[in-house]
Amino acid sequence: MKDLVIIGSGPAGLSAAVYAKRAGLDALVIEKDPVSGGQVLITYEVDNYLGLPGINGFDMGTKFREHADKLGAEFAEGVVTGIDTVSEGAADRAPVYKVVTDQGEYETKTIILASGASHNKLGVKGEEEFTGRGVSYCATCDGAFFRNKVAVVNGGGDVAVEDAIFLARGCSKVYLVHRRDELRAAKILQDELMSLPNVEIIWDSVIEEVKGDNKVTGVVVKNVKTNDVKVVETDALFVAIGIHPLTDPFAGLVDTDESGYVVAGEDCSSSKPGIFVAGDSRKKRLRQIVTAVADGANAVTSVQDFLVGKK
Ligand code: FAD
Ligand code: NAP
Repeated sequence: MKDLVIIGSGPAGLSAAVYAKRAGLDALVIEKDPVSGGQVLITYEVDNYLGLPGINGFDMGTKFREHADKLGAEFAEGVVTGIDTVSEGAADRAPVYKVVTDQGEYETKTIILASGASHNKLGVKGEEEFTGRGVSYCATCDGAFFRNKVAVVNGGGDVAVEDAIFLARGCSKVYLVHRRDELRAAKILQDELMSLPNVEIIWDSVIEEVKGDNKVTGVVVKNVKTNDVKVVETDALFVAIGIHPLTDPFAGLVDTDESGYVVAGEDCSSSKPGIFVAGDSRKKRLRQIVTAVADGANAVTSVQDFLVGKK
């Protein structure tokens, strides 16, 4: 029986692992991917984490994991598919939960959900067909395949603008297609984007279809104000239209909002006693590495408070 099972080893889960180890809790981190770090791993450059300006995302994820390893945190591989309530607990007794994975089951008194988020899909014709053949959701992973070629990025948030900036370093031309006439991304990123000579923004427009033969050759773009439709010739489409929480395995167990984010305040306590949530899968205003790491620390503090006086 564990004191704590942490689901996910992104920034939130790894921060929780460090705090749990230092608190003397018998904790286990379960991760579905072969490498820890979560979304940070696909970030080319992180420039807003205090003390580490400009760090490469993969290096940052590796450092986070090394920190947890150095303290002796325990890890297990597996995709968490659900959580069963074995017993509800009482004032003097902790609940017992069973965390079910594709590799095995783990009994625990408390759980921190730190399963983060993943990219959204556009849902247009050709997107599925050409995924891996020009359609991508990760510029830092696939951008190098399109050196000296044309790329389209779709979206107007931090990820889309960072992707466009990153791709502009190697591509001959980058189009950014955004559905409104202003970007959501941070001002500093917008300023950098606007300074690049090989980037063109296609405002007020959505992508309606991905065209190709055996790989992408173009995207059908519609202006939502004029209804004009045109084909933009391109070798690649990078989709960066936001994220959704990876909370399906916990549906019905804890309260979520309409998008699936687990409802919890700064103390990270969910609606279910003994279950806490940290990082991007929590309903909150700002989803960043620094807030994920802070959640991990707060969640463990709440776990400690919860376990005081319980067997
Ligand atoms: P995640 O990083 O999503 O980690 C969740 C972990 O849980 C993953 O390892 C996942 O594999 C695992 N997991 C999920 N489901 C299961 C399951 N069922 N079973 C087992 N394991 C599971 N933020 C910044 O502050 N600065 C930046 O510059 C920045 N750049 C970004 C660039 C990109 C391209 C992206 C996508 C995001 C960026 N962000 C940035 C946001 C930042 O990465 C996230 O806010 C942060 O990673 C959230 O951490 P997390 O631990 O909550 O979730
Ligand atoms: P985001 O901030 O939610 O932006 C998504 C963008 O996609 C928005 O511009 C949105 O348009 C657009 N969009 C949404 N659905 C669409 C659709 N169906 N069709 C066309 N466009 C659509 O998401 P994100 O950029 O992926 O960022 C995710 C999180 O990571 C954010 O919290 C972000 O701050 C964080 N992050 C931070 C950094 C950094 O700090 N440097 C870097 C990367 C990511 P509207 O604007 O019209 O809504």
